[in-house]
Amino acid sequence: MSELRIDPEACVGHGRCFDIAPDLFADDEEGFGTVTVPRPEVRQLADARLAARSCPEQAVLLTEGKPDDSVRHSATHPVR
Ligand code: SF4
Repeated sequence: MSELRIDPEACVGHGRCFDIAPDLFADDEEGFGTVTVPRPEVRQLADARLAARSCPEQAVLLTEGKPDDSVRHSATHPVR
């Protein structure tokens, strides 16, 4: 299983994440990004990766796991 989250200490509210992937992110009342799908499905991973790469603050953190949910096989984004 994959995990998607935003580092609240790093997010400054550019809004790219929810512009790029509105099915996975939203903005809170102060304009900071929030994750709406913390366990993205495989079909959502391309958008999640793009959002992670596009965040100027590298605040979008995506941990991709294999279907067997093994932590040993996970990898964490962002990737530049
Ligand atoms: S793109 Fe990055 S800095 Fe901007 S709202 Fe999303 S997580 Fe925050």
